[in-house]
Amino acid sequence: MTLKIGLFGGTFDPIHQGHVHMAQAFAAELALDSVILIPAGDPYHKEQPRTAAAHRLAMVEAAIAEHPQLAASDCDMVREGATYTVDTVQIFRQLFPQAQLWWLLGMDSLLQLHTWRHWQTLVRQANIAVAARGADSLNQVNPALHDWLPEALAKQAQQPEGNDGGRLYLLQAAPYAVSATAIRSALAAGTAVHEVADIPPPVAEYIARHGLYRP
Ligand code: ATP
Repeated sequence: MTLKIGLFGGTFDPIHQGHVHMAQAFAAELALDSVILIPAGDPYHKEQPRTAAAHRLAMVEAAIAEHPQLAASDCDMVREGATYTVDTVQIFRQLFPQAQLWWLLGMDSLLQLHTWRHWQTLVRQANIAVAARGADSLNQVNPALHDWLPEALAKQAQQPEGNDGGRLYLLQAAPYAVSATAIRSALAAGTAVHEVADIPPPVAEYIARHGLYRP
């Protein structure tokens, strides 16, 4: 049996129930052995995270502590300068040469994939899994992706095994409507951290203990 590893990069500022829900659905639907959450260090696609990477990693670790299939990596935090997903995947390819590697993203991120550095290499070297998000849909992907999309969907359907890349899978799990932006806004507006339902309780405790996202 091929070892199957899921990789889930994000800002995680903070990690929320949507991320945990996605990671669990990802592991279950693709029969992954493990999903590794990778907090961004020096971000490329998003504005500077407000919260120090060490706090964001600690919140990820708190959120996944009770989930044995989920793990965290600081590999995008310890690299110098801008980090690119294509390089992150290379690092995991070296660590797990025989594994089938999956990169997880939300539909909003898939709509930006054509702007990612060397995205063509990324989608050849890794497999891509996409979680539904809001009103964003596959019909809106950039035309640059139009050749890759049907081929990658067909490859997942026809050749699900193998340690190569090039597959695309759309998660079946129902969308989970939450964003870190909405959580930060609620906390900045003075909502008590334990009253924000989409923050995992161990993360809420961490936020309270360290006084993060205060108005
Ligand atoms: P922000 O609101 O700060 O942009 P976010 O909630 O989108 O944050 P990120 O850490 O930026 O969280 O997300 C990491 C990845 O997870 C991205 O690919 C994003 O599309 C995806 N994602 C985050 N939340 C959801 C969600 N509720 N449903 C589907 N995908 C999500």
